[in-house]
Parts: sequence; structure tokens; C-alpha cells
Amino acid sequence: MSTNKLFGTNGIRGTVNKELTPQMAIKIATAIGTFFGKETNLLIGYDARTSGPLFARAVTAGLTATGCNVYNAAMAPTPALQYAVKNHKMHGGIIISASHNPPEYNGIKVIWNDGIEISHQQETIIEQIYFQDTATLAEWNKLGKTRELPSVNDEYVEAIKKHVNTAKIAQKSFHVVVDAANSVAGLTTPHLLRDLGCKVTSINANIDGTFPGRLPEPRPENLAELSQTVKAVGADLGVAFDGDADRSIFVGEDGEIYWGDKTFALIAKRFLEKNPRSKIVTPVSSSTLIKDTADAYKGEIVWTKVGSVTVSHKMKETDAELGGEENGGVFYGPHQAVRDGAMTTALILEIMADTGKKLSELIAEQPQYYIEKGKVECPENKKARVLEKLAEQMKRANISTIDGVKIWFEDKSALLVRPSGTEPVYRLYAEAKNPDKALKLIRDYGLKLEKIIETI
Ligand code: MG
Repeated sequence: MSTNKLFGTNGIRGTVNKELTPQMAIKIATAIGTFFGKETNLLIGYDARTSGPLFARAVTAGLTATGCNVYNAAMAPTPALQYAVKNHKMHGGIIISASHNPPEYNGIKVIWNDGIEISHQQETIIEQIYFQDTATLAEWNKLGKTRELPSVNDEYVEAIKKHVNTAKIAQKSFHVVVDAANSVAGLTTPHLLRDLGCKVTSINANIDGTFPGRLPEPRPENLAELSQTVKAVGADLGVAFDGDADRSIFVGEDGEIYWGDKTFALIAKRFLEKNPRSKIVTPVSSSTLIKDTADAYKGEIVWTKVGSVTVSHKMKETDAELGGEENGGVFYGPHQAVRDGAMTTALILEIMADTGKKLSELIAEQPQYYIEKGKVECPENKKARVLEKLAEQMKRANISTIDGVKIWFEDKSALLVRPSGTEPVYRLYAEAKNPDKALKLIRDYGLKLEKIIETI
């Protein structure tokens, strides 16, 4: 963490007792409490990490010291806590989670009264209070109170059921394998699925903050066990969550792991069929598949920078009801404008029930794209100018410079060039109708970038 920054792209995160200590957590909480103000009501909850209760207690101490009342929801998925902030009309909330990071990490996310993470401007205010040491502590007789709020997981499951046709899904008696990553998805998803008439087989279901089953990021390399289990038990569907259960990745009845852009496109298609001419909010890193879906069903894409908080805020700003990311984050506005793994699972089951098709069949109907990745080394001090030059050279093409440079070509291939935030490199992502073309884009634009870097 740098000297005047606490927040990264998704809240404050670090390794436990090294980058993020309980002492820091108390001080951060007094800054957050000062930001919300005395006598405000704030919800707190945590995921399954071993350090969750510890940080929740430290943050609670800091918040009540500044005069905020704290409602303890204990262990719950991030989207369940976000829903509870809105549902219980809290002034805000704090989520202790490091999402998909390994078990030695933890983090602190701050939620506004609408259930969405606070904006970067609001984060800056909290950082100023923290670094300038200007938190205001309450008098001894004005300390905040603490209460338990144990009902949030049940309320969350009930809320999701209101947004799908439960009877129709139940008729199909789907068999679903759930991989909860030994974390909080196990507290809600199996219950939701049983309420939807599904037979549930669970793996990595026991809560264990050391994450013994698999790493908590639902990437294909971590999901071999889920894929094998789906096939072995003859299930209709498999679903894997990340550590705080806001992202979900699906496995078809054939054992195939489908990346998030494919399932997001299924949800976008169905949403546009029901709500023609709607907006779909998605980062420029998303697949052309989403653009194809919007084009085919007369939707309008609103492109954003990469990052889930940006998608949520853009949805609110543009009154959009659907958002999504390729990594398995779907934002279903009628429920809440945040990533929500269990809501996404219910929507996928509803599509399968409605169409009578298997997941593999639904995905086979989509246009097929091939993806290639590459990187080009570039000194940090040249990074900004390289992008300007590239954008200048591509002026006549269909491009977006919202985040890096994204180029859409006429043959439906696309290329995204983004500077890495952590290494002195540019990352290239190409997508095309055939693998050779994707590879050619990486090669051609890699050379183009190297040339630009030489000249500046
Ligand atoms: Mg997450």
C-alpha cells in the first residue's frame, strides 16, 4: 500500500498481519465511522477466511468508538450483505473479504446505502481522514451500539426467488453440483437450489478459511473437480463460486467449463427478448459475443472501464438493469446492481427451464470466438504516450479509449491493449472468428506497439 492510498480496485486488501493488521483495521474503521457520521447504522459481515471474525471485531471497535451503531450479520456472501444494507435501510456497510484472493489475504469493502461499493471520490475522503489522523471519536456516553442481525442469508435467498419463475424451474427437477470453494456460497446457494426444486450435490461445501478444496478464484484450472463431479453424477449443471460468492462460473452437463462471457451473453439475450432496447453495461474487456447479442436483440451496450464498481455505478447513472463481466460477474438490476453469484445461478436455471435446452446446447447456438493473449514490454514512463500514439494511428477504425485501446474490426475480430497495473508491460487480448486470425492480431499489434515504443 502506498503512503496516501488505502483502496485498490475493490476496497482495501492485503496479507493478514503483514499488509493489513488489526491495528490498521481499527484506525481505518474510525476513518470510515467519521465519514458516515455519528448515530448512523452500519452493517458488518465477513466471508469464511480465518481472519474474518478478528477483523470484524477490530472494525466494530473502531466504528462504535466514532459513535456508529453496528449490526453484525456475521458470515455471509458479499451480495447477501449488500442486499441487507439496502433491505434494512442501513446508512452503509462494511464487508470483510478478499474475494477471490488466496486464504492469507483479507480486505475491507465499504458499501453505500444502496448496497453498492462507495465511489472513488468517497474513498479519497476516507483516506484523507486516515492519513491526516482527523477521525473524531465519540464521548464515552455517545459510543455506538452493537446488535446481531442473523437473518441476512435467509432474506437474501427469499429475495432472489422473487425474480425467477420458481414453479417452472421446480418442474424440471434439475440436478446441480455446487462448488462453494469452502466459503460463504455454501451458506446460501444449496438452500436456494433446494427451494427451486433442484437436487443438490455439494463439493468443497464445508466452511474452512484455509480453502483446502481449491483456490477461491473460479478459473478453469481450479475447477477440474467440479467438471468431473458433474459428469460422474450425471448432473444438469455445475456452478463454482469465488471466495465471497459474487462471481459464478458454470459447467455444462457435458463437463465443459464455460467462461463467464458465454453465460452472461445467455442472460443478456433473454433479458433483451423480454426488455427490447434496454441498455447492457459491460467493460471494454468483454467479448464481442456481448456486442453481437446486443446487436441481434436491439440492445444498447454501455462500455465502461474494467472493474465491477465502475459497472455498478454506470448502471445507476444510466438507469440500466443489466451488467456483466467476462469473469463470471452478472449484475441483475431488478434484484440489485451488483455482482451476484446466486442470482446468476437462478437466472441460468430459468433459461434452461424455459427453453428446455441443456447448457451445452444453449452455448452451442452462440457465435464462436477464439481468444489469444500476448504482452509487450514497455517502460513505465512511456506507457501513457504509447496509448495516445496507437489511438492516433487507429483514428479511422471503430475504437474506444475508455480503458486502454479497444479496436473492433469489420470482420468481427477485436483487440484490446491495456497497460498492466503491476508490471512494465502492455497486455494484448485478441478475439476472432478463427484461431489464426486471433494469433495474427497479437503478432501484428505486438510489432506495431514495439515500433511505437522505439520512437518515443
Ligand atoms: Mg468476489
